[in-house]
Amino acid sequence: MKAKDILKEMTPYKPGKQIEEVKKEYGLNHIVKLASNENPHGFSDRVKEELPKLIANLEIYPDGYAAAVRQKVADFLHVDQEQLIFGNGSDEVVQIICRTFLEPGSNTIMAAPTFPQYRHNALIEGAEVREVPLQEGHHDLNEMLAQIDEFTRVLWICTPNNPTGVHIDHQSLTDVLNQCPDHVLVVLDEAYYEYLKAEDAFDSLAALEKYPNLIVLRTFSKAYGLAGLRIGYGVSSKEIIQTLEPAREPFNTSTIAQAAAILALEDQEFIKKTTEENLRNKQALIEFCDYQGMDYYPSEANFVLIHLPISGDEMFEHLLSKGFIVRSGEALGLPNTIRLTIGKKDDMIRIQDEIKGKLAKVASGEQ
Ligand SMILES: *Cc1c(COP(=O)(O)O)cnc(C)c1O
Repeated sequence: MKAKDILKEMTPYKPGKQIEEVKKEYGLNHIVKLASNENPHGFSDRVKEELPKLIANLEIYPDGYAAAVRQKVADFLHVDQEQLIFGNGSDEVVQIICRTFLEPGSNTIMAAPTFPQYRHNALIEGAEVREVPLQEGHHDLNEMLAQIDEFTRVLWICTPNNPTGVHIDHQSLTDVLNQCPDHVLVVLDEAYYEYLKAEDAFDSLAALEKYPNLIVLRTFSKAYGLAGLRIGYGVSSKEIIQTLEPAREPFNTSTIAQAAAILALEDQEFIKKTTEENLRNKQALIEFCDYQGMDYYPSEANFVLIHLPISGDEMFEHLLSKGFIVRSGEALGLPNTIRLTIGKKDDMIRIQDEIKGKLAKVASGEQ
């Protein structure tokens, strides 16, 4: 048998440590996972209350067109239903975009580090991946534009960027869209859109009217707290959506995910409450970092990338032994950092104490 050559050089996605795994390994009862930017406040009570009803008729295939959730999201965003494509998480929309536009001989441009699935899927399609290093956590947009040539098909922009949390302001994104040639699809990944509170935030949906080569990705996995159900979507021009549709699996979002997404979207109070709580706890973390003299990137998401005087792996191991799972920056391509998802207030106070304890030990030479 012969697989694609590129797959020999690739490794499967390495997920954050699983809670059960850590419990066993360290003999701990209580583990707090702050590694994958999930919502620590769970998901809407409406979904919880309705869940028993959602398991009816599971012998029937889901609605492949996702008509009900499509209608709901279209109304919510004030776009046409034909401007939407749903995926088994926005991860799958990334895959569909790559399947549709990329092939050997083509290239695609993205920041580094950014969300790894752009690169991963592009490589599988045989495209050349052009990675442009972040500058102080920011996309180097001018260099990204400079890398475009006649073989470029897709330009990936992640705002706020994972793993740095930095967002791109309105003017910068407008400039990119004005300068980007028509033959390039601009993917704007807004997985953390609901957390974005900056006044200079880009109005991506308004931009769709002006730029038919733009697609915006959003998800129910992060602020909506439905990561376990797998549903996300893309919004674009009808032409782009029509182009993508043949590359989508016919029943790619489940009946339960579609129904839960509708209920979750109806509960904007939950989004408001939990994103505000996130903001308060993030502010407290930032004050803690300032107090400790640790640098960090300004984050508009539900996580912060913190610079450490030690390796990210060392801090990761320490926190793991205390029952906290975080992401080490070494694994993300940013040495001497950790990426910390903003958790519940009590957990944030406890993890800050553990970080402080570790840094004090390091400073005293004790290790
Ligand atoms: C989490 C994340 C996604 C993927 O979310 P899904 O669960 O697949 O919807 C996409 N982009 C970024 C930047 C993310 O952080």
